[in-house]
Amino acid sequence: MDAGKLLIPDYHTHTELCGHAVGTPEDYLRAAERQGLTGIGIADHFPLLPEADRSVAMSFSDLPEYVKEVEELKRRYPGYVFLGIEADYRPHTIDRVRALLEEYPFDYVIGSVHFLGPWGFDDERQVGAYSGRDIDRVWVEYLQLVGDAAESGAFTILGHLDLAKKFGYRPSLAVDVEIDRLVERIVGAEVLVEINTAGLRKPVKEIYPSLSILSRLNRAGVNITFGSDAHRPSEVGLDFERAVQLASEAGYTEYAALRPSDTGERAPFDLKPLPSL
Ligand code: ZN
Ligand code: FE
Ligand code: FE
Ligand code: ZN
Repeated sequence: MDAGKLLIPDYHTHTELCGHAVGTPEDYLRAAERQGLTGIGIADHFPLLPEADRSVAMSFSDLPEYVKEVEELKRRYPGYVFLGIEADYRPHTIDRVRALLEEYPFDYVIGSVHFLGPWGFDDERQVGAYSGRDIDRVWVEYLQLVGDAAESGAFTILGHLDLAKKFGYRPSLAVDVEIDRLVERIVGAEVLVEINTAGLRKPVKEIYPSLSILSRLNRAGVNITFGSDAHRPSEVGLDFERAVQLASEAGYTEYAALRPSDTGERAPFDLKPLPSL
């Protein structure tokens, strides 16, 4: 296989609408074609609730244009382009978010936890708040919220599952039982989990989720997708060889590929064999 030509799709990409990424949906599509990927899902940040924040997500006034633009690309590249979105899970906003998501024809929704209460724990501008915190407690709270997100029924794919490691703050072994509990909740909720390569570009320098978590997900029968979390077109499909390698080390032989659907049914998928490296 050609270097860099990996026959898998990338379902986690952003656009300039979110205020901290560059490029249009079409730019991301072109990048995916150049990389030889088998599909591209645009999944920009759904407006943040309860208060909009234009530095972390698009605003509600941007949504119709976003949907229209990606739908237009879908028409031009049927079966190759998917309309996704990345929405925040926050306990006090999930009912509104779930209702609002229903108003748009998203093919899939990535559910992500970026906040513990008011604290944007993965935001570089708020990294100072780790000092003085009990890191295991941060993890327990985070894992609990991800489990709640899985069970909310609002999401197709769970984003960057162990995001709390982003700045290198890792849990002690005592948190292991909470990770096992999360895996059980994911199985019960029947959601997909993405292998997200953006962690390689962050201080932790590691794919989300870790090999240890991914192995447990595999044993439990949870299906996976792939995402670069690209915030610029040059990041589309980035480090996907390493992502496939990790999946294979974790015991995976298949991944979930979204199936084009006109029925309005969200995100039916087929299991496809992992490409060999
Ligand atoms: Zn982002
Ligand atoms: Fe995210
Ligand atoms: Fe993202
Ligand atoms: Zn993300």
